[in-house]
Amino acid sequence: MFKSHIIGYPRIGAHRETKKAVEAYWAKEITQDQLMAKIADIKSDCWKAQQDAGLDWITVGDFSLYDHVLDMAAMLGVVPERYGRVHGSIDIDTIFRMARGRAPTGEDTIACEMTKWFDTNYHYIVPELEENQAFKLSTSQLFDDIKAAKQQGCAVKPTILGPISFLWLAKMKSGQDKFKLIDNLIPAYGEILNRIKEQGVEWVQIEEPILALDLSAQVQSLFDSVYRRLRIEGLKVLVATYFEGLKDNLNVACDLPVEGLHIDLVRDPEQLQGVLDRLSSNKVLSVGLIDGRNIWRANLRDKMTVLEQVIKYRRENVWVSSSCSLLHCPVDLENETKLPGHIKNWLAFAKQKLNEITVLTKGCQQGTSSIEMSLKESDAAARDRAQSEHIHKNDVKARVSGITSKETQRLADYSVRAKTQREQLKLPLFPTTTIGSFPQTSEIRVARRDFKAGKIDICDYETKMKQEIQDVVRFQEEVGLDVLVHGEPERNDMVEYFGELLDGFAFTQNGWVQSYGSRCVKPPVIYGDVARTRAMTTSWSEYAQSLTQKPMKGMLTGPVTILCWSFVRDDQPREQTAKQIALALRDEVSDLEMRGIRIIQIDEPAFREGLPLRKSDWQYYLKWAVNAFKLATAGAQNATQIHTHMCYCEFNDVIEWIAALDADVITIETSRSAMELLQAFESFKYPNEIGPGVYDIHSPRVPSVAEMENLLGKATQVIPASRLWVNPDCGLKTRGWEETREALSNMVNAARRVREKIGEKEAVLHQ
Ligand code: GLN
Ligand code: ZN
Repeated sequence: MFKSHIIGYPRIGAHRETKKAVEAYWAKEITQDQLMAKIADIKSDCWKAQQDAGLDWITVGDFSLYDHVLDMAAMLGVVPERYGRVHGSIDIDTIFRMARGRAPTGEDTIACEMTKWFDTNYHYIVPELEENQAFKLSTSQLFDDIKAAKQQGCAVKPTILGPISFLWLAKMKSGQDKFKLIDNLIPAYGEILNRIKEQGVEWVQIEEPILALDLSAQVQSLFDSVYRRLRIEGLKVLVATYFEGLKDNLNVACDLPVEGLHIDLVRDPEQLQGVLDRLSSNKVLSVGLIDGRNIWRANLRDKMTVLEQVIKYRRENVWVSSSCSLLHCPVDLENETKLPGHIKNWLAFAKQKLNEITVLTKGCQQGTSSIEMSLKESDAAARDRAQSEHIHKNDVKARVSGITSKETQRLADYSVRAKTQREQLKLPLFPTTTIGSFPQTSEIRVARRDFKAGKIDICDYETKMKQEIQDVVRFQEEVGLDVLVHGEPERNDMVEYFGELLDGFAFTQNGWVQSYGSRCVKPPVIYGDVARTRAMTTSWSEYAQSLTQKPMKGMLTGPVTILCWSFVRDDQPREQTAKQIALALRDEVSDLEMRGIRIIQIDEPAFREGLPLRKSDWQYYLKWAVNAFKLATAGAQNATQIHTHMCYCEFNDVIEWIAALDADVITIETSRSAMELLQAFESFKYPNEIGPGVYDIHSPRVPSVAEMENLLGKATQVIPASRLWVNPDCGLKTRGWEETREALSNMVNAARRVREKIGEKEAVLHQ
């Protein structure tokens, strides 16, 4: 009794068909009926891929036009009042308006909040709950899909997001405890399950990913009673967990009054024994062996060894699966025609992973010898990868193992460095600067694209980029900024740009994964030892510096961010790869210094994002992440001012670690939260310089001088004026020129006004 299934399949389509259809609908190029017809085909293809691979259960309900958490909210009738009162069923345009604030029909309204789905780069729409929220079955999409999949001959296993995770992910504006709503919620879930059962379904998958998090005793205690109340005669339930091990939720999960449990053995292989010991052998154990979060081909022999251990405990009730939904993987490796053959042979995308699952299942059913061919192929790929000279570079490995603590320590402390830097840079109080990028006009994008496609030669390309740099430098001088940037016109993306210049990175043509809604990203693949073979940014920075007397900031992307926004090799610990990237950046820092660049910014917007889900793992991560940053930067002379930049997140709980980066200056996103971040600085005295963002670059709105002056005033209450910088929240890439000019000149004026106001007494200190 071994069966195969997955937790979910990518919904974007092998050629991003979903994105294209949805965007065409938004643009009113196709009608709703046409959209639905296209979507029906894409869904049918997803099921067919699973049928063709020979999976025993076909997962239905994992598809979404925008986001599955949003769909669940809509299904439960959770629609905030500003979208209009809904009677009966909720239509698709209401769902789109919740996600984006607009749809082809209905009034524009403020969209719901969006946030990261656990530790992935997928973003979900946060359900907004009202006090005493009522829940009422309000969409029929799931039931329609079940019907359609059955007609296609599928053995359907529907999936839904579980009630406790749903509440955990939602937010409630009033102070009411959202878990109190569970009594209102259960009947709605009950109705959903009943409808599913009526459709002749045997198994339903209920996802409770929060079982992989640190939970309070209150939330833990909900599980048993909720699932007891959701029992329905004749419908079996598989509760699915993923992204981490069960750890102290192990008993809660194993003892649930349900028929099966799915665990993620990629993220936490160690949890297997505990589950084998605790989970009744009458229940199904679904083992998540195939990595849903990365693109590497599985080592099938290793996976078989794990399954053999499982079989020792139970010959019944074992399902073989992906660790989590394959949503986080690109769709089909076969569409990659330009990847070098040896690299391609090391990879498996979602479609290939389906086959890995069926092969392993067959190995369980008919014995290892029945899959010997596949095992041999997998062995060969593994051997090739372990020995490949494309991956392993002895000089890189030797350099990493030779790193000493001296290399992660600046020559002198911040106080000494700050003095030297002040003498040399001669900046005013409240120095003004920007985060790096300037508006990327279509001419810039076209020039980059044409150069890549070989339509223009390198001379042409460089002339165009230099022209842009010139314009940006002149603009900044006119506006009166103190520390200038070159504007990053040569970068399409802050990770891709560096990846393309470093050894050890590969780029796919079609390796898209959904980031949010119709937005997809194509992360680079870090497959081998990372090495810098030539300078990456110096010519742009040096040219920009030659145009001005003011200091020009060099601009690099940090090791943690490069790691977080790539598919990272799994044959060595992440921190090892981080060190290799850091060493490449360290050489770049040194080259920039040599070319006369006195300020260098190393962006780490993903620093917080890399934080593990379990608090007990934080310390370990933060240590190596900080060390990687320091390894990249600590080779700098005392006189070189190192900046870093962070955005998009909640920093307060890691503020001490941010300080430990020992950057001379950090610029940080704050303006949207009206400087909430500064609260953290009341209790924690940040030792170095800091630029809390005073201009929200996510909005086209131009902030007034008074507004920014007010924010700066607030900042001076917790941070000494001598250590404050003035800057926007993030790069200006997505903004237009007009609003940028206005906003930045207001920002410079705000800085001047605060300088006058509080500057006098501090000016003495500052000399
Ligand atoms: N230097 C980058 C820019 O200005 C930083 C981007 C980011 O933080 N995401 O575009
Ligand atoms: Zn940013």
